[in-house]
Amino acid sequence: MTVKYEPVIGLEVHVELSTATKVWCNCKNEFGAAPNTNCCPVCMALPGALPVLNARALEYTVKTGLALNCEIPHYAKFDRKNYFYPDNPSNYQISQLDLPLCVGGHVEITLADGTTKQIRIQRIQLETDAGKLLHAGDDVAEADSSLVDFNRAGVPLIEIVSEPDLRSAEEALAYLNKVRSIIKYCGVSDVKMEEGSMRCDVNISLRPVGTERYGTRAELKNVNSFSAAARGIEYEIKRQTAILEDGGEVEQETRSWRDAKGISVTLRSKEEAMDYRYFPEPDLPPVVLTAEEIDRVRASLPELPDSIMHRMMNEYGLSAYDASVIVAEKEFAEWFDRAVLLAGKANAKAVANWQTNELNRVMNARGLGPDQIPLSPEQVAGMLKLIEAGTISGKIAKTVFEKMIETGKDAATIVKEEGLTQVADEGELLKIALEIVAANPKVVEDWKSGKAGAAQWFVGQMMKATRGRANPQLATKLVTEALEQHAGQG
Ligand SMILES: [Zn+2]
Repeated sequence: MTVKYEPVIGLEVHVELSTATKVWCNCKNEFGAAPNTNCCPVCMALPGALPVLNARALEYTVKTGLALNCEIPHYAKFDRKNYFYPDNPSNYQISQLDLPLCVGGHVEITLADGTTKQIRIQRIQLETDAGKLLHAGDDVAEADSSLVDFNRAGVPLIEIVSEPDLRSAEEALAYLNKVRSIIKYCGVSDVKMEEGSMRCDVNISLRPVGTERYGTRAELKNVNSFSAAARGIEYEIKRQTAILEDGGEVEQETRSWRDAKGISVTLRSKEEAMDYRYFPEPDLPPVVLTAEEIDRVRASLPELPDSIMHRMMNEYGLSAYDASVIVAEKEFAEWFDRAVLLAGKANAKAVANWQTNELNRVMNARGLGPDQIPLSPEQVAGMLKLIEAGTISGKIAKTVFEKMIETGKDAATIVKEEGLTQVADEGELLKIALEIVAANPKVVEDWKSGKAGAAQWFVGQMMKATRGRANPQLATKLVTEALEQHAGQG
């Protein structure tokens, strides 16, 4: 009997908070500064230097927790996690072990088939980022030498730990996208994976379908993009399945994902919490938050993607998936709202279609980010008005759409300049239909003998002759008229 296995996946997402200064000192928190220019005795861990908690970092952590439906305990504390590594000048990381700032939240993910699923969040802790090692070579194992930049040491970092509720790479991707989106709406981080302000570790194990007990898990590190996370998960599912099917046992270990090679390799056997010799941080007092302080942060939350998504579904009848694509980026949602305001509520579904299909396709092909939408809401609204008025056909609209992106001009100008107005003049179209019918006696014979598609072929010729400008319904009607008239004569 073959056993079928089910993947059990949990994610640890690290997000750098976009505070002006670091979490325990006044050094600037900025990406891309000259190496080792944003450092001081505190973040370099010189003897006697003491940390002071950045109030904004605390506020941002609580804000993220509230946006992810967490509870905010009134009492939290910091702990030392001891480890030695060259990017960590203090040889410990200030983190949170048993009393983190946020506990027990959840997010809802929407999959491509429209189904939704709730993913639980175990905790969110505030901790310290380490410095950055730059290896001469692809990775540390192959490098002759490494340099260290301490600008990142002491940047506020939150770790969002999910429960192991994810069951596939698709679900993991949807979760990562959702968390990233919510954090961006909150304005507490720029969540750029390519600049390292959002990173994730993947915990993954397999268990026989239908069983409850978790299998032994591997932790995947060095996952540098969402797509790398998906590839890493797929690879681990295959690797662990092969071991189990062979009668072997998966080892508990930390593995490194080598995206270019598409493999994971052993980094170290997995350490347990006790290996880090955690103890309460003696240099920082515990954090005590009153209900009023938590409420004040709650009041500063913007409208979040789930709420906007449900508004779009209820008000405009958008599908769950279309709505989820639009709200995934704050800029997309704002673009949509503005376009609907200009084009009218009746055009809301059309706006969503153009946005999630054509516009999305162009942006993906050109690698444009959400802050680089190459078309204005005014342009698309103008185009939809022309379709509504019957000035252009839906087919011509595609041409207009591309030209608007190319030239930045509005739809009416392009239609005028290029002579793209829909031909809806019956007399003119009938004349063209009769000419085409007369020039193609063989197809007329086909039509007479009842051959399927013959009439449609003539409609195609009409569209060709008018460069797609014929009103399609009218063209169909007039082709039939022309054929009957011709048959009557013959
Ligand atoms: Zn500093």
